[in-house]
Amino acid sequence: MTIKSTLAGSALATAISANAMTSTNNIDKPFEYVVDRFADIEVLRYKVPGFEQLSLNQKKLVYYLTQAAIYGRDILWDQNNRYNLQLRPLLEAVYTNYNGSREDPQFKAFELYLKQVWFGNGIHHHYSMDKFIPGFDRSFLEGEVKKLPADKQPANLEDLMRVVFDPSFMAKKVNQAEGADLILTSATNLYEGVTQKEVEDYYAAIKDTTDLTPISYGLNARVAKVDGKVTEQTYHLGGLYSEAIAKIVENLEEAAKYAENDAQRKTIEALIKYYRSGDLKDFDTYSILWVDDTDSQVDFINGFIESYDDPLGMTGNWESIVNFKNLDASHRTEVISSNAQWFESHSPVDPRFRKDEVKGVTAKVITAAILAGDSYPATPIGINLPNANWIRATHGSKSVTIENITQAYDEASHGDGFNDEFVPDQQMRELMDKYLFLTDNLHTDLHECLGHASGRLLPGVDPDALKAYGSALEEARADLFALYYLADPKLIELGLIDSPEAYKAQYYKYILNGLMTQLMRIEPGKDVEEAHMRNRKLIAEWALEKGKADNVIEVYKADGKTYIRINDYEKLRDLFGQLLYEIQRIKSEGDYDAGCALVETYGVKVDPTLHKEILDRYAHLSIAPYKGFVNPVYTPVLGADGEIVDINISYGEGYMDQMLRYGRDYSTLGK
Ligand code: ZN
Repeated sequence: MTIKSTLAGSALATAISANAMTSTNNIDKPFEYVVDRFADIEVLRYKVPGFEQLSLNQKKLVYYLTQAAIYGRDILWDQNNRYNLQLRPLLEAVYTNYNGSREDPQFKAFELYLKQVWFGNGIHHHYSMDKFIPGFDRSFLEGEVKKLPADKQPANLEDLMRVVFDPSFMAKKVNQAEGADLILTSATNLYEGVTQKEVEDYYAAIKDTTDLTPISYGLNARVAKVDGKVTEQTYHLGGLYSEAIAKIVENLEEAAKYAENDAQRKTIEALIKYYRSGDLKDFDTYSILWVDDTDSQVDFINGFIESYDDPLGMTGNWESIVNFKNLDASHRTEVISSNAQWFESHSPVDPRFRKDEVKGVTAKVITAAILAGDSYPATPIGINLPNANWIRATHGSKSVTIENITQAYDEASHGDGFNDEFVPDQQMRELMDKYLFLTDNLHTDLHECLGHASGRLLPGVDPDALKAYGSALEEARADLFALYYLADPKLIELGLIDSPEAYKAQYYKYILNGLMTQLMRIEPGKDVEEAHMRNRKLIAEWALEKGKADNVIEVYKADGKTYIRINDYEKLRDLFGQLLYEIQRIKSEGDYDAGCALVETYGVKVDPTLHKEILDRYAHLSIAPYKGFVNPVYTPVLGADGEIVDINISYGEGYMDQMLRYGRDYSTLGK
C-alpha cells in the first residue's frame, strides 16, 4: 500500500530535516528543484543524499537494481492501455523528426500532449484516469506521420488516430462508477474481452476460501477470453511481457553478485525465480524473504505490486523503487515500530479486531535512488508492503517514508502563496510553518508503519470483500490511525514531537484538504475517484457532519471566499477515533454494504459551487495540482581493465531528455 503526497503545492514547513541537506552533490550551482511545468503538472528533481557515501559494492548493487527498474517501464505502459506502446514510439518519432517551426501552435499543442502522455505512462491521466484531449488537429499528426521513414509508419494508423482523437473511445482508464460493468467501461489492458461478471465468476471458482495462506489471486495476470474461455495470461519469463522481464532478470542477476549479505542475495534470487515461473507461491516466498531482510541498507521493490488501477483491485501494476536507508532519520520510525504493540493495544477499535500480537512492523526512513514503473514520474511518499494479509499477520511488514521525496516537495513549495490564500489565521500559519513538515512525515510513518499494519480480519472474511471500495477504505483506516495518534501524548513521551499543539497543524491541513483544496485536482463536473482522495474526503466530510451539533469544524465565508476553522480539536480527535472504529469493523467483517454507503455518501460527490470557487482561487496561484520527478542519472566509471571503479550520479537531465532517452534505450516491448 502506498501513501501519496496529500496535497500538491501546499506550503509545508520551512524547517528542513537536518539529515536531508548535508550531502554533497556534484553540481556547484544551487539545486534547481523545478525541472518543467505544463498542463496541471510540475516536474521536480530530487537529491540522493548519501549515495556517495555508500561502499563501491553498494553502489554497484544500487546501479544494477536501477537498471532492473528502468527496464520494466514498458510493462506498465502496456498494462495501462493496449495502444500505449504503439503510440509512444510514433509520437516520439514525430517529435524528433519534426523540422517545422517550434512556435507553430499545432506543434506546441503536440509537444504538450506528448509531455502529458509521458507523465501518464500512456494516454490517460495518472490520477483522474481520463484520456488526454489533444489540442492539435488530426491533419497535423497525419501529415507529420507521413513524413516519417517507411519503417516507422504504423500499419494501423486509422486505429491509432481514433485512440488519440475520439474522446469517447477508451475515455477512462479505470472506471469506478457504481452500477457500470467496471471492466467493460475501463480502458486498462488488464482485461480483454471479458465482463466483470465473468472475471468474478472465474476467481470465485478457483479461490480456495479455506486456505489460510492464499496466493494473491490475479496479481500477475491479464485475464482474457481465449477460444471462448476465460483465461489468465501470466506475466513471466516465457509468458506475457517476457522480453521486458528478461532484461529485469538479467540486471537482478548482476545485482545479486553485489548483495550486502546472504539474506539479501536470497531475496533477489527468489524474485528472479518468481519472474521465471510466474507462480504466485514463489512471489509469497520472495515477499517473506524480503520482509525478513531488515539488516541490509540498500533495499528495493520490483514487481507487480499495487492494484489501485485494477477496477477489481487484483492485478498489480508493475513498479520499482530502489532505495537505501537514511540511518539518522530512521531513528524516528524505529521508535514508532518498537512501540507498535502499545499503539495496537490502545487503538480505538473493537478489541476483537485488534491484533493480539503485532508482528515485526519494521519502519525506516529511506532515500530513493530511482523511481520506475508506476512510481514514476508521480511517486508515493510512503510505502508499506507486502500487501498479502496473511504474510503481514505472520511475518510483519516493512514500512518506509521516502524523505528525499517529501523534502523535494517541501523545498519546491516555499513561497507558492497557498497559505496566504487558504489559511487566514496567522497563528495557524505559524504553527504550520513550524510543525507541518514534521507532522507530515510523522503522519506518513504512522500511516504506513502502524495504520496499514494494524487490525485483523475475522476468520473466513474474504480480503477482497470490499471490492472497488477496498482501497479507499483501507487508506481511510491507515489515515485515521495516524490522525488519531498524532494527537496522543505518547508521541511527546517518546520524544517524537516536542509540542502538544503540533498535531493541530496536521489536523487543520487535513480537513482543509479533504473538504476543499484537494478539489483543485478534479475537473469541473467530475466526481472524486482516486482512492486516497476519496479517503480524505470521506474522513473530512464525515467529521464535519458528525461534529455539527458541537460545531467542531466550522465552514464559513469571508469576502465571498470559503474558509474553515476548527473549534474543538479534542472532539475532532474523538471523531477520528469513532470513524476508525467503524471502518475497522467494516474491514474486519467484510461489510460491503456499509463500506459502499460510507464511501458513496461522503467520499465521492463534489459540491459544484465550492468546486468552482476552489478552482478559481487556485487559478490565481501558480501551483500545479500534480507533481512528479525526473530521476538522477547513474553512470559507471570504468577502470583501466574495464571494471567498474565507481558509479557517478548526476542530476542535470531534463524531463524531455529523460523521457526520450528511456524510450530510446529501455524499450523492451511493442513492435
Ligand atoms: Zn496507504
